[in-house]
Parts: sequence; structure tokens; C-alpha cells
Amino acid sequence: NAPVVIVGAGQAAAQAVTSLKAEGYAGNIVLIGDEPYLPYQRPPLSKAYLGDEMTEDRLELKAPKFYADSGVDLRLGTRVTRLLPAEKAVELVDGSRLAYGALLIATGTRARTLPVPGAELAGVFSIRSIDDVKHFRAAAVPGAKLVIIGGGYIGLEVAAKAKKLGLDVTVVEGQPRLLARVACATISDFARTLHEGNGVTILTGMGVARLIGPERVTGVELADGRVLPADLVLSAVGAVPNAELASEAGLVLENGIRVDEATRTSAPDIYAAGDVASFPSRLYGRRVRLESVQNAIDQAKAAARAITGGDVAYDPVPWFWSDQYDVKLQIAGLLDGYERTETEGDVAAGRFCVRYFAGERLLAVCSVNDPKSHMLARKALAIPPPVPAPG
Ligand code: FAD
Repeated sequence: NAPVVIVGAGQAAAQAVTSLKAEGYAGNIVLIGDEPYLPYQRPPLSKAYLGDEMTEDRLELKAPKFYADSGVDLRLGTRVTRLLPAEKAVELVDGSRLAYGALLIATGTRARTLPVPGAELAGVFSIRSIDDVKHFRAAAVPGAKLVIIGGGYIGLEVAAKAKKLGLDVTVVEGQPRLLARVACATISDFARTLHEGNGVTILTGMGVARLIGPERVTGVELADGRVLPADLVLSAVGAVPNAELASEAGLVLENGIRVDEATRTSAPDIYAAGDVASFPSRLYGRRVRLESVQNAIDQAKAAARAITGGDVAYDPVPWFWSDQYDVKLQIAGLLDGYERTETEGDVAAGRFCVRYFAGERLLAVCSVNDPKSHMLARKALAIPPPVPAPG
């Protein structure tokens, strides 16, 4: 019998192996990842691991013994270069082919390239992998001038740790406020005060014209012509799904690989889960693609169930967290389309939550050092919205 082949050895892949076993799958599993590491957790890459508070082995999602005991054929440091749905096979970088009974695409996302001249200069980093952190850390010596382009979660988490490592940190954000895509003004203002209070310079509503070289970056030229001296630059301007394998094989894409509520792609026996897949959310009435641990785990569970023939309707309450200094930010739900917010707690004391509503419907809750409101929100949001009365 042809094995279940998993392409990409990250968060979703590790969970899929665990869940396939839990679902009673007794066949072979081949796990193929292009990084040289066992599946590992990425959140610490911009948090404890970056701050040197966590060793590399603690990033591993499962110990090596787990894969050996589960009989998984691990192919690390190996890239899949082609999917061949008509032959039910994948092609590896060495040209060899591997047949599958079922294929799970769990290739995640990669850092978006900064769309300005000079983005390719030495000293310009992004943080997506263990190796990225190793390269960044080698350049992040105390006193160095770091310019972070992008004031989203990853940019701000790195700002907090870089400050702790003794760097001189400036965050440049093109939107008028930090976290503009993912939070309301109350949270953005709180984040700004938090970072400025810790000595980070924040420039919002400011574009970047180019990075100055010639070989190694020496500065960032802003849209207004000013130049910020820089010893290193972090590009933190979002991620793009690794969906090329799927598109070249003729699978339907729609903001990543299009899957149904059972993680099935448009091709028979091919499933996708994690950052790379967009799925129909009945809870939010639209198709969504999430970049979160919650989604990678829960969607991989759904994929394992679907592969083993079980019924599944994946429709989660999305949730996410971010750690910056001693602040834990937790978000439940999706807030796009919100019309008003309600804040409860003490913003100045750094312990509060913001609820986002469309009409009377609660869409999302952002909690700051308030885990209880986060847990309550996850429960409240799991209740589907009432069907509107006819007429
Ligand atoms: P990944 O874990 O990215 O794994 C995909 C793997 O597939 C990668 O190893 C990739 O190299 C490999 N691959 C790609 N193409 C191929 C190919 N052709 N052949 C072989 N292998 C291939 N989420 C949260 O919920 N909370 C957080 O605080 C948080 N912080 C984060 C901080 C950082 C710095 C980053 C980068 C992410 C963070 N995330 C966080 C997001 C979370 O880590 C991701 O949502 C999660 O890892 C997605 O899992 P995945 O399995 O879909 O992809």
C-alpha cells in the first residue's frame, strides 16, 4: 500500500503524524521537509529563542524517538520539487519519485520580500526559520543599530527582544499605526506606548524608499528622504503561502491552496493544512487562511481524520498570541468588518480586553495580560451566530 506522504515538516506535519496514529492509521508515513531540522515550533523564534532564553532542542515539537517509534520515514533536508497528481507521486530534488496513497501539503509560508531596492543586501534579515535566527543573532551585537521594517506581531516581538539584547531599535511602519491590520487603535496605542517606554523608536505612516549599500546595508532611506543609519535591517512585512507546487500541479488556489471543510484540495487524495491552505469558515461566512499554531494543529487533526475516512467539518474559532516584554496579547476570533469596540479593564495598568462587534454580534476579543477574558471569548465565539429570522 502506498504511504501517506506529508510535504513540509513543520507544525501541521508533526500534528498530522500524531493524529494519523491516533486515528488508527497503521500504514507507512513519509515526512519530507526541506529544512535540516525535525519539526519545530516557530513562535519562540521571535520570542524566547531569539532572546537566548531557550535552547534549540526545546524547539522540537516531538523528540526524535517519537518518529522512530511511529515508524515514520523522515526525509529531512529534502525538497519536493513537483507534484504529479495523475501518477499519485511526488518528485524530489534528486529527481527520484515517491508514490503516495494520500498526500498532505503542509508547506507553510515564507517571508514576503521587501519590495524596495536594496532588499537583497547583506545585513537584511527576515525571521521564519531556526537558520534565520542564527544569522540574525550573529549580526545582532549590543549597540548595533537595528531598523525593523513592519510594525506587525513579528516586527514588534523582535523589537522587544532586540532591545533586551542591547540593540538600538527603530520600527518603521507604513500604516498610520502599529498592528493596523490586526488590532484596533486602543491596542495599537498601547503597543506604541509599551515600546517607546522600553526605548524603541517608532515611526508610523512612513514608507521606505530604499536600503542603502553597496554590499552590506548601512542605512534605510525613508519616503520623506531621511536616512536612518542601520547595521542590520529586519524585514517583517508579512508572509506568502508556499503554494507553487500546488499551482504548478493544477490545483485550485484561492489565497493559498483552496481546501474544503475536510481539508481536501481540488485533486483526489491530496489534502492541505496549515498556513498554506484557505478553508471555508461558516463561523465567519467567508474563506479564510490563517497563520497560527491553532490552525496548523486543528486543521492537521482534521486532515488526519479525513485521510483515515472519518467525518470532519473544520470550522474553528481562530486564536493567536504575541509576547512583547512582560505583556501577553491574546486574540480570539477575526476582527475584520467590526463596527465598534468595547474596552474593559485598565489600559494604563496594562490589563484589559477589547471586544469587537458588528451590530450585536461579537466577532473577536483582544486580551492584554488578561487570560481569563481570552478563554471566555473562545467559548463565546464558538457559538454560531443565530440564523436571522426570515423576512
Ligand atoms: P510551517 O511550520 O512553516 O512548516 C512548513 C515547512 O514546510 C517548512 O519547514 C518549510 O521549509 C517546508 N517546505 C516548504 N516547501 C517545501 C518543499 N517544497 N519541500 C519540502 N519542504 C518544504 N503563531 C501563533 O499562533 N502564535 C505565535 O506567537 C506565532 N509566532 C510566530 C513567530 C514567527 C517568527 C513565525 C515565523 C511564525 C509564528 N507563528 C505564530 C505562526 C506559526 O508558527 C505558523 O502558523 C505555523 O508554523 C504554521 O505551520 P505549518 O505547518 O503550516 O508551516
